[in-house]
Amino acid sequence: MLGGMQDWPLRVMRILDHAEREHGGREIVSLWADHSQTRTTYAGLARDARRLAAALTRLGLKRGDRVATLAMNHSRHMAAWYGAIGAGGVIHTINPRLFDEQLAYIANHAEDRVLFYDAAFAPIVERLKPQWRTIEHFVCFDAPAGEDGYEALIAGEADGFAWVEGDEREPCMLCYTSGTTGNPKGVLYEHRSTLLHALTEISPDVFNLSARSVALPIVPMFHAAAWGLPFATPLVGAKLVFSADYTPDLMCRLFAEEKVTHSAGVPTVWLAMIAHVEATGAELGALRHVTIGGSAAPRAMIEWFHARGIDVGHAWGMTEMSPIGTVGAPPSGWEEMSPADRLAYVCRQGRVPFGVELRIVDEDGQVLPRDGVASGRLQARGPWIVKQYFQDEGGPAAAADGWFDTGDVAILHPDGVMQITDRSKDVIKSGGEWISSIDLENAAVGCAGVAEAAAVGVYHPKWDERPLLLVVRKDGAEVTAEQILAHLAGHVAKWWLPDEILFVDSLPHTATGKLLKTALREQYRDYRLAGIAA
Ligand code: ADP
Repeated sequence: MLGGMQDWPLRVMRILDHAEREHGGREIVSLWADHSQTRTTYAGLARDARRLAAALTRLGLKRGDRVATLAMNHSRHMAAWYGAIGAGGVIHTINPRLFDEQLAYIANHAEDRVLFYDAAFAPIVERLKPQWRTIEHFVCFDAPAGEDGYEALIAGEADGFAWVEGDEREPCMLCYTSGTTGNPKGVLYEHRSTLLHALTEISPDVFNLSARSVALPIVPMFHAAAWGLPFATPLVGAKLVFSADYTPDLMCRLFAEEKVTHSAGVPTVWLAMIAHVEATGAELGALRHVTIGGSAAPRAMIEWFHARGIDVGHAWGMTEMSPIGTVGAPPSGWEEMSPADRLAYVCRQGRVPFGVELRIVDEDGQVLPRDGVASGRLQARGPWIVKQYFQDEGGPAAAADGWFDTGDVAILHPDGVMQITDRSKDVIKSGGEWISSIDLENAAVGCAGVAEAAAVGVYHPKWDERPLLLVVRKDGAEVTAEQILAHLAGHVAKWWLPDEILFVDSLPHTATGKLLKTALREQYRDYRLAGIAA
């Protein structure tokens, strides 16, 4: 027997239809690379997306064809997402900070047919054109007026384009992992997975978005779909503020002028913002809720926001998970918790929303208890978690029963809170025990004068590996190794203390702003601690 309710395929374009109909006047503000500012609305965005879908169809785009973007966050980029998806295509965001080799590989592997790009990335386009084998059309988002580009492409199109309909399991978006090991792998999001993920994101314990929210996603649209925010905000009619420029004083001005209430980004960008606010006394305006994720949020950063009455959602996820896995949102009993307990709670990666299941397993695949003690490989499953990579790269991504191995090492607490201890490749293995490089780094960043820190395991004849801590000092700071060790001693077990601390001018980062541990491990592979023979 079947039920008696209507069939309503969970397709992404319904999000934009809803925003246009119910929140058509709600604004989308964009600050461009040249610092000019434009304003449109969800109705304006829907109109542009329809014209763009018509233009793509005129150019010969077929169902399932990939449309790439190489761009920062702005309203035209968002219109291109919805236009390409509405035309039946698959939007493929490319991270412009990748190496040329990866940029060439990704676009060829995806078989992109059209590329939309920011003028700022024109040099990349010129350089890689000869290597890109499948791109037929290049469209500049911000071409000078009167020249070929986005505006010219959609100018002559009619407004009546009807979105391409189809099965909710058809793909709508392609995101590549950042490829810190081997070639990047493509994750092909579906209409259904994207819509379910967006519905979850607006909920109070995830991004806590509503019609009253003003959201400024600092996380770039090429980093795991800006964590899904361009799909979540139109669902509730939140105002959107985009910036193509991350200079902290510009961002602070946008926060204040546009009355931003919600923002999201990786720790690296927040570090820069906090340093700017500390140095200049700039105001963060109406900011109430920040989501920090992509790498572990340092304790000192969470404390800084809490001290200003700003909620922190500490999010864990990955490209393979659309990307939301867990968020450290306030649990029951929050009001009674002391500031220190609240801080300790948010330092962990939080709880799953409905739709994500987690477990940890040992080296043999045996499921470990959720006892707050056992630490093991973290696995996840659910309707917005990868099953297989695009073009089946590397065989199935998840086991037949759905469990996907995240490559992270974690503890699950009895109250459901997940705590990342490390990436399986980054843990420092000392005398058969594991030292969390993340915990060491976060403790070090809490020491006055330390701007950034990275912990890597280096060879030790007795212990296999011992931690080496690389530290970038804050501008003008003179903090010493002894001071850092004394600080760390108050935060981590004695046997975790780094055997050596080296001061460096800078640390390498991935294209999404995370510490590039693979490069550091390579660089310090043959490093010998003092007193240890080569
Ligand atoms: P990539 O895996 O290619 O670097 P992702 O952005 O998908 O790109 O990164 C996912 C990984 O980032 C996770 O597997 C985890 O190791 C790390 N990560 C993300 N958020 C957090 C967090 N809040 N705390 C600790 N690690 C995190």
